Amino acid sequence: MDFAFNEEQLELQEMVRDFVAKEITPNVSEMDKNNEATPGLMKKAADMGLLNVVVPEEFGGPGLDSVTIAMIYEELGKGCAGVATSMAANSLATAPVLIAGTEEQKKMYCDLLNNGGLAAFALTEPGAGSDAGGVSTRAVHDKEKGTYTLNGTKAFITNGGIADIYLIFANTRASGGIRGLTAFIVPRNTPGFKVGKKEDKMGIRPSNTCELILENVVIPEKNRVGREGEGFRIAMKTLDAARPFVGSVAVGLAQAALDYAVKYAKERRQFGQPVASFEMVQGMMADMAMKVDAARLLVQRACMMRDQHVEFSKEAAMAKCYAADTAMSVTTDAVQIMGGYGYSREYPVEKMMRDAKIMQIYEGTNQIQRLVIANKLLR
Ligand SMILES: Cc1cc2nc3c(=O)[nH]c(=O)nc-3n(C[C@H](O)[C@H](O)[C@H](O)COP(=O)(O)OP(=O)(O)OC[C@H]3O[C@@H](n4cnc5c(N)ncnc54)[C@H](O)[C@@H]3O)c2cc1C
Repeated sequence: MDFAFNEEQLELQEMVRDFVAKEITPNVSEMDKNNEATPGLMKKAADMGLLNVVVPEEFGGPGLDSVTIAMIYEELGKGCAGVATSMAANSLATAPVLIAGTEEQKKMYCDLLNNGGLAAFALTEPGAGSDAGGVSTRAVHDKEKGTYTLNGTKAFITNGGIADIYLIFANTRASGGIRGLTAFIVPRNTPGFKVGKKEDKMGIRPSNTCELILENVVIPEKNRVGREGEGFRIAMKTLDAARPFVGSVAVGLAQAALDYAVKYAKERRQFGQPVASFEMVQGMMADMAMKVDAARLLVQRACMMRDQHVEFSKEAAMAKCYAADTAMSVTTDAVQIMGGYGYSREYPVEKMMRDAKIMQIYEGTNQIQRLVIANKLLR
């Protein structure tokens, strides 16, 4: 076991830090206000190779291991959790194809990402969040024509309004339920496919979150990923794979808040001394630092287990849940250490606190993560 990054990883880390310093940090406040990423940012990210980090070498990608990918997302999370979320959504939406797709589907999807394309993963619906089996989007098979017709509405989809390709879960059974859940690839320009309302969110505002509407969207059979009814297994495997990456964005966010609060506490003086000299402030900082380190280690362990191809659902859930809770508590404490200035939009930590909340909600709420962990313990 080696906790140090190798030369190649350190170089990559430096490159991402540089990208964050030049392209993200100067625009964070503007992006937050505008509720969207700076125009052209995703193109620059694509040119830096940040949109296809999960693409294997055999499909023309960088073939990175999960620990390295998590390191990249942590650096992006330090800059802006919203931008990091948008980029990580590409990995989330590609995982189902890498898990269960045909060679042709993998090639098509990976080529798109290699060329700077954006993807979206669409499972959630207005009536189906934590309960994925409640998906009511219908996929009706026409065996003669060799097509599926999709009808339904998806909610809260990251990259929903800006993606080129969508991985959509629909039910092939009229009666619904987990057994009919099936994954489909839907290109953006497919007739009947529409982007609905854009969410006006509390945090991660540079990431695009939209509703998707499918009205008689006809796609060929070859766009089905895996077998009919295999969608639930594919979705769960995808979420296992992606959860450590959510954790890594949360770790980056928490680390950035801690760094900012420490710097501020050394400069801010009250009662004739820096607030950092007060033991109660030091205690908060120590707790924050312990949590951030523990969260990072949980993320790295889950990533290592994934790369070793051993069962890691419990560890992935632990990493996501603990890192998300850490991001929430550390950003809240960062605001506390900065007093009124922490609460002001003139300083970056109030945005970090708003951004942190989503970490406990998306890709399975932290209640669902605890269910996953407990189920594994009680097996
Ligand atoms: C900004 C943003 C981006 C998102 N991006 C995507 C995306 O790209 N793709 C996608 O498919 N979805 C996405 N989502 C959806 C997200 O994954 C869901 O919001 C999340 O899974 C929770 O579902 P819900 O909102 O319907 O809450 P609900 O499922 O209605 O849950 C409400 C509350 O009940 C609790 N709860 C529910 N069931 C249980 C249970 N069995 N035991 C204990 N507690 C329970 C929950 O933890 C929560 O506190 C996104 C959401 C947001 C806000």
